[in-house]
Amino acid sequence: MPAPLVVMKFGGSSVAGAERIKRVARRIVRERARGSELVVVVSAMGDTTDELLALAAAITDEPDARELDVLLATGEHQSATLMSMALQSLGVPAISLTGPQAGITTDGRYGKARIAGIDPRRVRAELAAGKVVIVAGFQGMSVAALDGLEATEPASAVHTAEITTLGRGGSDTTAVALAAQLGADRCQIYTDVKGIYSADPRIVADARQLDVVGYEEMMELAHQGAQVMQVRAVELGWVNDVVIEVLSSFEDAPGTQIREDPLVEQRNKVRGIAHDRNVAKVTLVDVPDQPGVARSVFGPLAEQGINVDMIVQNVGHGGATDLSFTIPRVELAKAKRILEPLIRDLGFRDMTTDSAVAKVSIVGAGIHNAPGYAARMFGTLADAGINIEMISTSEIRITTIIAEDRVEEAVRSLHAAFQLEQPETVEAASALAG
Ligand code: ADP
Ligand code: ASP
Ligand code: MG
Repeated sequence: MPAPLVVMKFGGSSVAGAERIKRVARRIVRERARGSELVVVVSAMGDTTDELLALAAAITDEPDARELDVLLATGEHQSATLMSMALQSLGVPAISLTGPQAGITTDGRYGKARIAGIDPRRVRAELAAGKVVIVAGFQGMSVAALDGLEATEPASAVHTAEITTLGRGGSDTTAVALAAQLGADRCQIYTDVKGIYSADPRIVADARQLDVVGYEEMMELAHQGAQVMQVRAVELGWVNDVVIEVLSSFEDAPGTQIREDPLVEQRNKVRGIAHDRNVAKVTLVDVPDQPGVARSVFGPLAEQGINVDMIVQNVGHGGATDLSFTIPRVELAKAKRILEPLIRDLGFRDMTTDSAVAKVSIVGAGIHNAPGYAARMFGTLADAGINIEMISTSEIRITTIIAEDRVEEAVRSLHAAFQLEQPETVEAASALAG
């Protein structure tokens, strides 16, 4: 039987500093002693990515997107090389590869690139040579033809290879994509908590760890702010049927499996609460109530790569209406720059923005066929005196926008109201059949 192939990903806090890197290296050695072939994906050490972003911001308000990606990718280069050295010093053959060296290509959108493909030949060759392969997470290479040159000429002569990063939390995606491409037997995401919880355990002390969470529920939780997994990683896992195990790198304890969940219909209706502070609200006041206005507003934002999330348009009165929407807070300055000229062109009265808001969501696959969840959510927030500024729903989620300074209180109240600290009751399948 061929040796099982395991992809192990270690997040920033797991590799923050030499001591932790050495500890993770010992863990890798233990796994290897079981006879597995190992591909190890690492994030940048500790807060390195934030520190690099701050350095760039200290140089300029608007760092060039290409240069910023090359800079950010170095964080993962550091940890990958150090991990390789740590393994070698324990007598284990290892090699570090950058994302491009590992054959990861992307679509070329700086700062939020998507993986377009993986050429696994280098990784396979290094595995076949008996090495543990350490891959720098969060990055790949996009290839474009240089202007004025034929793309058919030899690549080195005419192609521009550019380093691109996959967005915050992107090392998760590197790991899942490699596991899918290599047909790995296991895909393990090691982090600083024991698994996926019913809410962020840093905020809710009695949050409960979930044994299994379905791909769809995990995608919503991640999308609504549970940064423990990058959304794209869950999506890739879902599409490629990769069972993703989330577990602690600090203790040996059972983790959480993200997988197709056969019990999804029988579980608690609400599986988790997610919150997100990276939100800003924009309101366009007295927008003319006529065809084409929404396109004129959202078209230019989309062209500049700004994701608009919730949109609320009021009923028009006197030929005008108010239009509110949310965007990632980090994009607010850019959005304002894009929208300001439109105030005159389209004839709105004003644009107001609020970056002291946050999103709070309840998520669960059973919500859509169980009335009363919205009422309980809104009632809980009302009892706490928390004003709801916007609401949106999907089949498996209800989301509210509230003031940022109330977000922790909102998460805790909702967690208690839906009794998420209690062991999950799985209804008997026979009861469902009846
Ligand atoms: P890493 O550096 O390992 O990638 P992250 O900081 O990206 O780690 O993600 C882990 C963190 O995600 C945890 O420390 C926790 O505070 C946060 N988190 C938010 N929501 C959840 C949740 N529902 N379950 C577990 N962790 C969560
Ligand atoms: N270092 C990157 C970040 O901080 C990627 C990652 O950790 O997954 O977002
Ligand atoms: Mg992460």
